[in-house]
Amino acid sequence: MHTAYISHPDCLLHEMGACHPERPARLKAIEDELAASGLIAKLERHVAPLATVEQLERIHTPEYIASLDAKAPSNGMAYLDPDTAMNPHSLKAAYRAAGAVILATDLVIGKIVKNAFCGIRPPGHHAERDRAMGFCLFNNIAAGIAHAIQAHGLERVAVVDFDVHHGNGTEDIFRDDPRVMMVSTFQHPFYPYSGIAGRSERMINIPLATGSDGEKFRAAASEFWLPSLIKFKPQMLFISAGFDAHRDDDLASLNLQETDFAWVTERMKEIAHQYAQDRIVSALEGGYALPALGRSVAAHLKVLSDP
Ligand SMILES: [Zn+2]
Repeated sequence: MHTAYISHPDCLLHEMGACHPERPARLKAIEDELAASGLIAKLERHVAPLATVEQLERIHTPEYIASLDAKAPSNGMAYLDPDTAMNPHSLKAAYRAAGAVILATDLVIGKIVKNAFCGIRPPGHHAERDRAMGFCLFNNIAAGIAHAIQAHGLERVAVVDFDVHHGNGTEDIFRDDPRVMMVSTFQHPFYPYSGIAGRSERMINIPLATGSDGEKFRAAASEFWLPSLIKFKPQMLFISAGFDAHRDDDLASLNLQETDFAWVTERMKEIAHQYAQDRIVSALEGGYALPALGRSVAAHLKVLSDP
């Protein structure tokens, strides 16, 4: 069985301004590296469908979804927060991004593919139940998790978030849901200044000091994530795969490298193999230094697609 790579051309049309770091070139850099490395031959490409309103209402309020529909511009830009905007294509891209993770969930649970990576934008992990923020409109990974639980009947699902920013939206959506465990690391103190107060038995959010390197990251994951995941025994793993903790990334100040992303992917494969029938769905979040982003996604996908 192959690893799926799920995307859609609509994800390239969403733009938030000429100088915005969350730009279409990110997806091009990833695809160029997958082609150059030859990894593309090991991936099964799928086209992302639009998520349905019913699927999105599992994780967002109907009022919030309607407000995005109402604000979507027919020309120019509509700002949702100082960093987050919609052009005329953004809303469709957001429905595709959430739809990609939902399709990935169906493909992996249906054993059509071994695991899946969604090369999508806008990203999702800052989107709360009723609020867009931090470049995110819909919480894509949350849409997949809710689909695994509500459409496929899974009872224990874990999400791993190694983006440099805390996934406040994912925490907001699942904080009170005993079926979901979240494990994450994030630079602290740093945007969005969350993740400390909400810590619980199922919200294993571990701050890393500015300048932390791969050794610190691996130590945090080994000490806090792995024992929690082993205790929880998730039936499926989701990954909020942000690569902005890379040392080349100017948006933040952690010092991870491709080898660290490969390492954490190996650990997640081991957990998924032991407890979750190898089921992993990963979705792109941050990562803004284009060459580093391409190499990091390739390192992540090489591990996912290895037999
Ligand atoms: Zn980020």
